[in-house]
Amino acid sequence: MKALTVIPGVAGSVEVRDIPEPAEPGPVQVRGLEVGVCGTDREIVAGEFGVAPPGEEYLVLGHESLGRVTADASGTFAPGDLVVGIVRHPDPQPCANCAVGEWDMCRNGDYTEHGIKGLPGFARERYRLDPAFAVRLDPDVESIGVLLEPASVVAKAWEHLERIGARAHFEPRTALVTGAGPVGLLAALLGVLRGLDVHVLDRNTTGPKPQLVADLGATHHGPSVDTVPEEVDVVLECTGAPTVVFDSIYRLGPGGVGALTGVSSMGRTLEIDAGGMNRELVLENNAVFGSVNANRRHYEQAADALAKADRSWLERLITRRLPLHRADEALHTEENDVKVVIEIGEAD
Ligand code: BGC
Repeated sequence: MKALTVIPGVAGSVEVRDIPEPAEPGPVQVRGLEVGVCGTDREIVAGEFGVAPPGEEYLVLGHESLGRVTADASGTFAPGDLVVGIVRHPDPQPCANCAVGEWDMCRNGDYTEHGIKGLPGFARERYRLDPAFAVRLDPDVESIGVLLEPASVVAKAWEHLERIGARAHFEPRTALVTGAGPVGLLAALLGVLRGLDVHVLDRNTTGPKPQLVADLGATHHGPSVDTVPEEVDVVLECTGAPTVVFDSIYRLGPGGVGALTGVSSMGRTLEIDAGGMNRELVLENNAVFGSVNANRRHYEQAADALAKADRSWLERLITRRLPLHRADEALHTEENDVKVVIEIGEAD
């Protein structure tokens, strides 16, 4: 069967190749429909990230998935069900967090991730899943089902933000989201669904992003931070750009909580007033935390949010769809891209 593969650490090694039928355990047999492309995939393709499964030379790409169940010996799913594979699997020990299903908080780093670290991804025609790592989607969300994984990442960030905020009385009203890529826009959506006044900072002033922000009922700011309200209750940082990270933390009002979700490149130094930043965080009781990945609960929260959101708005987040044999084009960013999706197979 066909799969999109890469040799981790080797830039330019991405190719569509024939690979054997899935040999992995798991009673749920799935036909791959689509995978979304994100910055992590592009880093893997550039040879900067990614680990092949033990004993294998190549890694099948694709962690943002949508597939259709063809058979399930466990009886959890019916043939035809839409399904999304959970990216991360717990470490084998397991650590205290993985042991209770919070593999997104793995403590020893020995977790595996489909399409990223030690497990084959979903950019292949067929794969098998364990029902504990498969999330069913309603048939009517097929057109945007591939957004579930990035939505699960922001669902976790919002959940943790609220849990941290709840250390004291917490009634957030204003949110600053930085970045209007798919993660930022989905983070903004979850803020709007919570009834918050959401401000999105993004350097793009043309293209689809400003209008997507406006159509959500949020306020677009950019490229400068100057027009963003001076004090917001929550920040969701979705760029990983060092200046934006610090500018956004400075916008937190008293008691405010900031979630950092953007994975930056290493070695990007910045001169900051560290004393001033510490002083502000202390005197304002601020909390800033990092957030990555998602556990099953977050996928379910994300599925609820996607079901409630305006379908046509979500559909506009997918700006290009390309077939598997044109994956190289999908892996190249274009100016007006929001989310680019690779089609693996046809729906029945
Ligand atoms: C994925 C996460 C993953 C992270 C680090 C992100 O692109 O969405 O699921 O944990 O990369 O590998």
